[in-house]
Amino acid sequence: MVEKQNPPEVDRVAASARAVAARRARASLKRDLSMRVVTPQTVLARAFAEPSSAAGTMRVTDFLMALPAIGAGKRDRVLEELGISPVKRLGGLGSRQRTELRAWLDERFPQNTPRSGRSRLLVLAGPTAVGKGTVATHIRENHPEIHLSVSATTRAPRPGEIDGVHYFFVDDAEFDRLVTEGELLEHATVHNRFRYGTPRGPIEKALGEGKTVLLEIDLQGARQVREADASATLIFLLPPSWDELVDRLVGRGTEDAEERARRLRTAKGELASQGEFDFHVVNEDVGTAAREVVALAE
Ligand code: 5GP
Repeated sequence: MVEKQNPPEVDRVAASARAVAARRARASLKRDLSMRVVTPQTVLARAFAEPSSAAGTMRVTDFLMALPAIGAGKRDRVLEELGISPVKRLGGLGSRQRTELRAWLDERFPQNTPRSGRSRLLVLAGPTAVGKGTVATHIRENHPEIHLSVSATTRAPRPGEIDGVHYFFVDDAEFDRLVTEGELLEHATVHNRFRYGTPRGPIEKALGEGKTVLLEIDLQGARQVREADASATLIFLLPPSWDELVDRLVGRGTEDAEERARRLRTAKGELASQGEFDFHVVNEDVGTAAREVVALAE
């Protein structure tokens, strides 16, 4: 006779499914750490707040190895220095170990201390495919009090794009003229293809009228704005996770392996520049991210 499946068997199946899900969540969190999508301090805070979470159940050894530029030798030295056993999980650390690990992280991975003075010139940048354009569009449609800068570009309009609203579509000669006559606050060639630049006049006018101005531009542009106006507020838009960014970058799978690898390398490099920014906003939900950006205005 075939034995009937009893509840303990069902429980075992459910438990092993939960274990697989937990392992996946930890693996994904490790990728976020190594790609700098989350800071080590954030993971630590989550682990301490919720020891049964993916962060809390992560082994200290795995945590350390996922940090940028930490190898096995460094990991072992740190564990010894902090008096932490390698079998420990983050959520299981004692209070002294927590404090010491946190202090070590703060020294090794210093976090930005946002400048106290706020500016009305906001710059939104971030890695390719993080959704800067969507957040900017949301702000244009829902926050008329913010002046969204309209860039000049040499690329052709896409269906639905209106000259003067989404971009000023110009040819190379006109772009050259804007550059030569100093009419652009910053400009850059993006993705090795077309040129984009921020017209200076409308921004100065809007700032003069006391409005907040938002620039949605690439990283090279953000750096130039900082050079031109050290008080500008630089905001870095982060993806909710590295896996999510990979999906958005290569999800459709229409590119060949070399192109995919190139995009991922670029994204990794772009994420590494987040330390240059004053604030970080996670684009989990467009409306929330847009509100967070707007709230950073003076
Ligand atoms: P798209 O062609 O898809 O609208 O934009 C491509 C990229 O150009 C985006 O990453 C966007 O942030 C960037 N971009 C748009 N306008 C400007 C600009 O005025 N200056 C710079 N540096 N980048 C821009």
